[in-house]
Amino acid sequence: AQTTASDVWDFAVELRSDPASAEAREAVLASPTFGLTFTDHMVMANWTVDRGWHDPKVTAYAPLRVSPAAAVLHYSQEIFEGLKAYRHADGSVWAFRPERNAARFTASAQRLALPQVPEDAFVGALRALVTVDEVWVPSATDGETSLYLRPYMIATEAALSVRPAHEVLFGVIASPAGPYFDTGPRPVSIWLTTSTVRATPGGTGAAKTGSNYAASLVGLAEATANGCEQVAFVEAIERKWLEEIGSMNMFFVYADGRIVTPELSGSILAGVTRASVLELAADLGHKVEERRISADEWKDGVRSGEITEVFASGTAAVITPIGRLAWPDGDLTISEDTGPVTSAIRAALLDIQYGRVPDTRGWLT
Ligand code: PMP
Repeated sequence: AQTTASDVWDFAVELRSDPASAEAREAVLASPTFGLTFTDHMVMANWTVDRGWHDPKVTAYAPLRVSPAAAVLHYSQEIFEGLKAYRHADGSVWAFRPERNAARFTASAQRLALPQVPEDAFVGALRALVTVDEVWVPSATDGETSLYLRPYMIATEAALSVRPAHEVLFGVIASPAGPYFDTGPRPVSIWLTTSTVRATPGGTGAAKTGSNYAASLVGLAEATANGCEQVAFVEAIERKWLEEIGSMNMFFVYADGRIVTPELSGSILAGVTRASVLELAADLGHKVEERRISADEWKDGVRSGEITEVFASGTAAVITPIGRLAWPDGDLTISEDTGPVTSAIRAALLDIQYGRVPDTRGWLT
């Protein structure tokens, strides 16, 4: 795609005078907890109907000043993204397929009637923040640590009428992230809920918008109440076809080597990890299928031995094996440990992200 001058934003850099001390930062980087601690700086840019995008900058991480009447607080007009920057053994820092997140941000913006951030500006914003806060990217020797990047866009206009807002804020914050599990990937338990759905046909399920996550929380609470760690949702009409697990896409490994993932139904988020797994699995010799798969096929397949492994994919948890499935009147153990196919795909993905193999696909920026 051609880049025009307005697609590349010139970020002003306002360095903070009181960054975290090296000791405080190192203490965070030694064992980061996902999403709880943030780097010294953040990106902000404003948009108004009259002026378009203006004042892009990297500035001190600080609370936002928004009106209590800001549209986002009442009508959820907001979108976000999630991706990671990885430090390689030579010290360099790389983002994984950020142009995919940029494209998804554009699609989400369209669905939520928000203005578009040019995709070069989106990637430029990530670059600007990571450049200023590079010391917050954990070192490569730490194993599976990275800097999680969270771009977002919110309707800031103080106006209670229901219409697309005339004032919007785009921002990026960053948070050091550790391995999702201290002891390496460990199979998690899944609660299959049919009492609520997270998304509906024609709704916003394929967009990365906060209200989808709000709609998923009672399902997660139901999972927790039933002793499970995560929740799996089915689609809204027949309540039969599998969609997603929490904030992850799902994959089923069959005894004959096939790998099946639910097709993008319109109410599923198209994961960057999902797309990458489909390619890597095919390279590893698997036949991959994107199609509808029912909760009954999952249960029957595990019982008969036809399904040998189940795993979930996402930026935060990378590839997470699923060990157990429970639902209101049943319970099924899939596996006590991480299966060989799950392990191989996980390793293939991490090897690329951490630069342990050549990036032949051009996935790193
Ligand atoms: N589904 C949902 C609902 C998500 O929030 C995420 C995380 N972004 C995913 C799937 C996985 O997407 P990705 O691989 O791009 O992180």
